[in-house]
Amino acid sequence: MALFGKMDTSGEKAGGTNEITDVEKVKVLIIGSGPAGYTAAIYAARANLSPVMYEGLQPGGQLTTTTEVENFPGYPSGITGPEMMEDLKKQAERFGTSVRFGMATKADFSKRPFKVTIDDKKLIEAEAVIIATGATAKYLGLEDEKKYAGGGVSACATCDGFFYRGKDVGVVGGGDTAAEEALYLAGLCNKVYLIVRRDELRASKVMQERVFNTPNIEILWKHQTKGLFGDGVVEGATLLKEKGTPNEEEVKIKIDGFFLAIGHTPNSDIFKKYLETDETGYIKTVAGSAKTNVPGVFACGDVQDHIYRQAVTAAGSGCMAAIDAERWLAENPLK
Ligand code: FAD
Ligand code: NAP
Repeated sequence: MALFGKMDTSGEKAGGTNEITDVEKVKVLIIGSGPAGYTAAIYAARANLSPVMYEGLQPGGQLTTTTEVENFPGYPSGITGPEMMEDLKKQAERFGTSVRFGMATKADFSKRPFKVTIDDKKLIEAEAVIIATGATAKYLGLEDEKKYAGGGVSACATCDGFFYRGKDVGVVGGGDTAAEEALYLAGLCNKVYLIVRRDELRASKVMQERVFNTPNIEILWKHQTKGLFGDGVVEGATLLKEKGTPNEEEVKIKIDGFFLAIGHTPNSDIFKKYLETDETGYIKTVAGSAKTNVPGVFACGDVQDHIYRQAVTAAGSGCMAAIDAERWLAENPLK
């Protein structure tokens, strides 16, 4: 990888590169440092592609916000999310990945080399790009969600449901994700309250039927969450029934876990000008690969996966992205 001095960017608008003088050429740029990005980095580095990774605002990704990870293969006693991500970082660096703090703020995929602006002040010119920017779970915006983070508040039933076996939990939302999370938790927990703000579910009919036919799911129609309570950990939630109407009523439920299932936002905004996304913003990839609609730009992990959203699937798709990039670069050398 070579460092270049000032370059002529006259007339260049896409990518916002007009005043940028710090330009670096790289073979493979990896954007994002979750399990997908680090796995892509390990494979790309071992393939001698000298990958450069920008970590973004959350080095290590979503798993740095959780305590125990018990379902990632290879850790029979579990591992904390931050420890696991530190291990992945070391493994990626061991083979020569240059891991850097910085946020991709603009992208121009109109032609090769692809241009990605970092923190609005540095330009990376990459022969191939791997996007691993993840997705962010939506929260209600309550102070209590932060207060009880790691103490009963979760946005991932598959990840954390196991900790609530035999207990009572609440799930907020009325879409397919909420239905799926509620059904999953119903198989583990004593009781699941599905907290729905309207008097109907948005979920598909088939999912609705499953929810209605599950005896330990109780739907709290027209309920919104006011706050959570408990001594250090969640012990219950305060809800408002028919909020803002003359019939408004405060309701308290006793729960140990409070699961958000009101949707995720894929971190794909800066790429949307060039990459095809679905209606929610997930980057579309060619089935069975990490290829996007732009040859040479690959996507992996949660930013292109609204279905599985697990560390192991993110890591698996990171491996796919690096192998796809390696083969594509071999077949399409930059002249
Ligand atoms: P992420 O982990 O979301 O990482 C995205 C990365 O992209 C971050 O480093 C971020 O800084 C970076 N980024 C974003 N935008 C930019 C940008 N513009 N420029 C540069 N970088 C950028 N899964 C499991 O399998 N087991 C579990 O036990 C588990 N527990 C979880 C607990 C919690 C609380 C949460 C929120 C999720 C959990 N998950 C778990 C899900 C798992 O964390 C995700 O599926 C996984 O992290 C997705 O990996 P990723 O690499 O696609 O993206
Ligand atoms: P979604 O369809 O957008 O549903 C979000 C749900 O959360 C809605 O019921 C919404 O209520 C509720 N909500 C949003 N903000 C809220 C708030 N502040 N307070 C309370 N409730 C709030 O999101 P999703 O369920 O994550 O699904 C996203 C997409 O993935 C959908 O296309 C879905 O079909 C798909 N998906 C499919 C499957 C499957 O097929 N198995 C599984 C998961 C997801 P309102 O209804 O009142 O707006």
